[in-house]
Amino acid sequence: MPLFVRVVPELSLDKAFDYAVPADLEGRDLLGAKVRVPFGSREIIGYVVELLDNVAELTEASERSGRRKPLRIREIAEVLGARPVIPRALLQLAQWMSEYYCAPLANCLKCILPEAVRRAQPGYLQRLWVEAVPNLDVALVPAQLARAKAQREAWAWLQEHGPGWLADYIHESRIASAAWKSLAEKNLVVIRPLDKERSPFTEAAVPDDGGHALNDEQRSALALIEVESARPRPKSILLHGVTGSGKTEVYLRAIEHTLERGRDALVLVPEIALTPQTVERFRARFTGRKIPIAVLHSHLSTGERHDQWQQIRTGKARIVIGARSAVFAPMENLGIVIVDEEHESSYKQEDTPHYHGRDVAVMRGHLEGVPVVLGSATPSLESYMNAMEGKYLLSRLTKRVEVRVMPIIHVLDLRRELKGEVVKKGSKPSLLAPRLVEAVNARLAQKQQVIIFLNRRGYATSLQCPQCGHTEMCPHCSVPLTYHRAAQRLVCHLCDHLVPAPTRCPQCGFDDYKYSGAGTERVEEAIDETFPNARIARMDSDSMRGKDAYRRTLHAFSDGLIDILVGTQMIAKGLHFPNVTLVGVVNADLALGLPDFRASERVFQQLMQVAGRCGRGEVEGEVFVQTRTPFAPAIQFARHHDYDGFAEQELDFRRSLEYPPVQRSILITWRGRDEEKTRYMAEQSAKQIMELVGAEAEGLGPAPAPIYKIKDYYRYHLFLRAARVMPLSRKLRPLMLEAEWPEDMRVSIDVDPVMLL
Ligand code: ADP
Ligand code: ZN
Repeated sequence: MPLFVRVVPELSLDKAFDYAVPADLEGRDLLGAKVRVPFGSREIIGYVVELLDNVAELTEASERSGRRKPLRIREIAEVLGARPVIPRALLQLAQWMSEYYCAPLANCLKCILPEAVRRAQPGYLQRLWVEAVPNLDVALVPAQLARAKAQREAWAWLQEHGPGWLADYIHESRIASAAWKSLAEKNLVVIRPLDKERSPFTEAAVPDDGGHALNDEQRSALALIEVESARPRPKSILLHGVTGSGKTEVYLRAIEHTLERGRDALVLVPEIALTPQTVERFRARFTGRKIPIAVLHSHLSTGERHDQWQQIRTGKARIVIGARSAVFAPMENLGIVIVDEEHESSYKQEDTPHYHGRDVAVMRGHLEGVPVVLGSATPSLESYMNAMEGKYLLSRLTKRVEVRVMPIIHVLDLRRELKGEVVKKGSKPSLLAPRLVEAVNARLAQKQQVIIFLNRRGYATSLQCPQCGHTEMCPHCSVPLTYHRAAQRLVCHLCDHLVPAPTRCPQCGFDDYKYSGAGTERVEEAIDETFPNARIARMDSDSMRGKDAYRRTLHAFSDGLIDILVGTQMIAKGLHFPNVTLVGVVNADLALGLPDFRASERVFQQLMQVAGRCGRGEVEGEVFVQTRTPFAPAIQFARHHDYDGFAEQELDFRRSLEYPPVQRSILITWRGRDEEKTRYMAEQSAKQIMELVGAEAEGLGPAPAPIYKIKDYYRYHLFLRAARVMPLSRKLRPLMLEAEWPEDMRVSIDVDPVMLL
């Protein structure tokens, strides 16, 4: 029986206060409970986050958190609710995160107790709908708003997008609610409650196929999951299945079995808005059987989020589907966790606590004793290595369902395909090789559909020679050098190696050696010109603001109203369109040139994923990959659909350079407004860190970050490599959390970083 508890106030999770447990609360389950406690001359609401067994612990803990020993320990006034609000496992999870990711506990608690839950407005069941007042003389409005910029923008937004959900518009336009309200006060718009649509996918667009008889590989995958589910301490399972091999069907069956055992299921997908088909298949299968599903997505209003949380907390929802943060869904009766497309980098949160949804899922499964299934056609090297080392179990689906074959992948060497025109100085080079154009025409003639994929990810900072494809690499690190345009230098962000930027290509001497990028818009334009009779739609984050635009376009494509879909990685994921028979990749090199040791892995994954979009129906598919580096391993292994070959050779490369996953890594970033001061602070602080960690880790840097300046902050990196993370985190945590930094300096620590920019 605990004598004392540690309580965090509901309104500021970053403080903690200790209270005594009065005799009448003995025997109550207090961990995670919502409580009322005295605070100064009033009372506040808080959550119990830790049980303290004796006074000694209290003193020590108080010292640890830097406060003086309290004079008097006051008692809890009241426990609210019959059961703790926070499931025990989630509290443990938050504590583990705080330690592992070197993050303040408050930040981790915010993950498990979202703001919507803490500042709850229960019963908020309606959403607000906004539309322009009808029959208004629209031309007169801007003048009326001449002195109200935000209102003018809100008005323009409404003109462009039409009526819609206020919460969505505030979210998408980033125009504060005050501006919208003012428009309503001026009688320009009407804001009124409207029965809300509970989720973005109210009607199941995909009819349930009722489930297929599983093939042998699917059956053994399912059997493995079943066996693990029955164990007290199950291992995580990596489900490596090629695109179209029926992984989703395996998930669905595993969930069915979990429900039959009386347990609930949690499914993580990379991004709800970008995986509508996957979500729709879950809904199609289960809603028909009246099994309640909660879908957590970023368009929920505060009230809806609160409602969903309560549904889940009270055990009403049997299946929860959501993106990264859904890993904290407050389920108490969890039976299985599924992480679809586990290799996706969107599982990594780029703000404190910088957690990785997949890894937190694995930890949660471990804490709750339930199996975690990680599915992918192109597993991350991290997961692949874990499987090879026996930390995860491995199950494979090597064939597409039925007798569908993998598409043939043609690699088009742009240096040859576009020969004679590229080298003309100052001219706009063609984007599509004649062979690709011909193949697209052939498919269009047969009324089949085409996807053109442009990897525009990141930014244009590495140099690639348009003539020979050469990219300058660091002599010490085997990563491409980053082009610092202002300084006209090439810099390695891992080791600080630095050379003046060459004006001619160092390999072939070409004298127009500069970066030339091609965005999706330019590609769309080129495709419009090349295929004047085709119906074309572009899909990227600029053209697709808001879930409806995205959904509408996908439905139109699905209904055959669009012939060619042009887009970024947005269209590379999990989509299933049986009539797509050709996929073109405009330039596979864009990502290869990124200054990141995972560049090659990303290109491989993306090529395999986009290739997976075609040939899913009766007709065999075909993929064209345009590149200036046709012999890059990522491209060659992708061409042969050889995941293992790629993984093995890439692991060798990581091993030789001691990069993750062979070694673990932590990235520390200093940011400051003053260039000199930032460099100085980074150097001093890095020195201190290296002394502290001693032989436990190797440090690279501090070096200027590849994106040296963001929003007027200069950035310095220290990249730490070590065999294990936890010992290092334990050492770094106090230093990072307690150090006092100057006003204009920011320091962040990223354990297992994904973005190294
Ligand atoms: P993946 O998730 O591995 O890309 P999917 O689960 O989307 O593959 O399966 C691709 C298609 O094959 C879906 O339309 C699915 O309904 C169907 N399918 C799955 N399993 C089988 C099976 N055993 N027999 C026939 N069709 C199947
Ligand atoms: Zn280097």
